Amino acid sequence: MTNQDNQFKKVISHAKEYGYVVQSSEIYDGLGAVYDYLQNGVELKKNIREYWWKSMVQMHDNIVGIDSAIFMHPTTWKASGHIDAFNDPLIDNKDSKKRYRADVLVEEYAEKLLIKAQKEITKAAKRFGESFDEEQYKTTNPRVLNYLSKREEALQKIGKYLEANDLVAVKALIEELEIACPVSGSKNWTDVKQFNLMFGTKIGASADSNMDLYLRPETAQGIFVNYLNVQKSGRMKIPFGIAQTGKAFRNEIVARQFIFRMREFEQMEMQFFVRPGEQMKWYETWKERRLAWHLSLGLGEENYRFHKHDKLAHYADAAADIEFNFPFGFKELEGIHSRTDFDLSSHEKHSGKKLQYFDPETNKSYIPYVVETSIGLDRMFLAIFSKSLQEEILENGTTRTVLRLPAVLAPIKVAVLPLVKKDGLPKIAHEIITDLRLDFNVVYDEKDAVGRRYRRQDAAGTPFCVTVDHQTLEDNTVTIRYRDSMEQKRLQINDLKTVVKDEVSISNWLQKTREKK
Ligand code: ATP
Repeated sequence: MTNQDNQFKKVISHAKEYGYVVQSSEIYDGLGAVYDYLQNGVELKKNIREYWWKSMVQMHDNIVGIDSAIFMHPTTWKASGHIDAFNDPLIDNKDSKKRYRADVLVEEYAEKLLIKAQKEITKAAKRFGESFDEEQYKTTNPRVLNYLSKREEALQKIGKYLEANDLVAVKALIEELEIACPVSGSKNWTDVKQFNLMFGTKIGASADSNMDLYLRPETAQGIFVNYLNVQKSGRMKIPFGIAQTGKAFRNEIVARQFIFRMREFEQMEMQFFVRPGEQMKWYETWKERRLAWHLSLGLGEENYRFHKHDKLAHYADAAADIEFNFPFGFKELEGIHSRTDFDLSSHEKHSGKKLQYFDPETNKSYIPYVVETSIGLDRMFLAIFSKSLQEEILENGTTRTVLRLPAVLAPIKVAVLPLVKKDGLPKIAHEIITDLRLDFNVVYDEKDAVGRRYRRQDAAGTPFCVTVDHQTLEDNTVTIRYRDSMEQKRLQINDLKTVVKDEVSISNWLQKTREKK
C-alpha cells in the first residue's frame, strides 16, 4: 500500500471514529457512494456552507441567494442539455468485471507519466546539488521530455475523441496506451458506452397521470429558471449574481473515493449574470476571488492549482478548475465556467417565455451571459478534513494526532474541563459553558486525566480547551490551551469570550479575502 493510500485510509477511519462521516445504511453493509454526516460532520459542513454563503452573498451587494426545489419540470433537463449530453463514457474490464470511466483511465495514465517525470527531476536535483537548473533539465533531458510529451499526447487525444463522441477511438486509445485494469491487471476491455448520470423518478400516484422526473444533477438550473423572478422582484441590475446551496444527484459510474465522488451530494453554486462580451473579464475576476476564498482558510497555497479545460462542456466558452491536493493527488475541487447565454437561450426556446433583460444603461434588451462558480460542499469538506489531519512527533518522542481544522470551521470551538471531578470545579466549568454556549458550540469533559482529554480534543479538531483548576477558586482565572501550538495561558474567565471570538469569528477570517480584492 502506498503512503497516499495509507493516509487516505486514516482520513476515512478518523472521520468515523470522531463522529464526522460514515457510510449510509452501514448496518446493511452500506450503499455505494452515499454517506451520512454525524454530530461533528454536520457542524463542520454547516460551517463551511456558512463561510461560503457569507462570502458570496452577504459580502456582495449585487449577489442574492435562493433555495429552489430539487424536483424541476422535466423539460428543464431537455433545455439544459442534460438528457442528451450528461453522459460519462464507461468501459468494463471483462476479467475483473469492474467498471471504469474511460476518460479517467486515460487521465490516471497521464498522471503516472507526470509523477515519473517529477521523480527523474527530483533525482537529478539531488545529483547536481546547488548547480541544478530545473527548467533546463525539464526541457532537455530526453527521458523527462519523453514522459511529458507522451502525457500531453494522451490527454489531447482523449479530449479530441470525447468531443467528437468517437467511442471507438476512445477504446482504441486505451488499448494503444496498454492501460491495464488496476484490479485484474488485464487489458481485456469491453467497448466504450455512454451512460447518462441522471437519476429518474416519477411524480403522481396514478399510472396515466404520472410524469417522469429527474433528481437535479446540479443546482444551477433552479437559478436559471428563476433569474427573471429575482431580477424583477429585487430590481437587480446587471452584473448581478444568484447563489444557492443544495443537494444534487448523479449516478456516478466510479464511486470509490469516499466523499470525493458521491451519488447524492451538495453543491454551492453562484451564477453571475453579465453583459454579453464582458464574460471573460468576469471569468478572470471570479477565478481570482474564488482562489482568494480558498487561501483565506490557510491550508497552504501549494495545495491549490488551476487546471484549464481543453475539452469544454456543451455550454461553456471557457472553463477552469481549482484543483486541490487531496490524499490521492491533485483533483478538481471547484469549477469556474463561462456558460455563455446557452442555458437562458435554451430555456427561452423550450418554454416560449421571454428571458431577456432590459439594460437601462444601454437601452437594449438581451439575454445575459453567465459566469458560474460551482463547488461541491462534500468535496470541500474532504479537502479541509484530509489536510487538517496530521500526526506529529512531540519533543518527548510520543505521537500526537491532531485535526488542525481552521478554527472558524471547527464543529466544537471550546472544550471546558474541570481538572478534577470535585471541589466545586465541575460547577464552575458548567457556569462557563452556560455563558459560552450563547455564542459557540462547546462541550464539557471530565473523564480521564487532563492530558488524555487534551489529546481527545486535539483529534476531534477542537481549537481551545479551557481548564478549571484550584487556582480558579481563588482568582477566577482559567487556563486556555491552544490546539495547534499546545501553548497554555492563564486568563480571567471574563476575558474568555473575547479571546475565543477573535480566533473563530467569520468576519476576521473573511477579512483576509477582502484584503486580496
Ligand atoms: P468531476 O469531473 O470530478 O466529475 P464535474 O466536472 O462533473 O466533476 P461539475 O459538474 O463542474 O463537476 O460540478 C461542480 C462541483 O461539484 C465539482 O467541482 C465538485 O466539487 C462537485 N461535484 C461534482 N460531482 C460530484 C460528486 N459526484 N460528488 C461530490 N461532489 C461532486
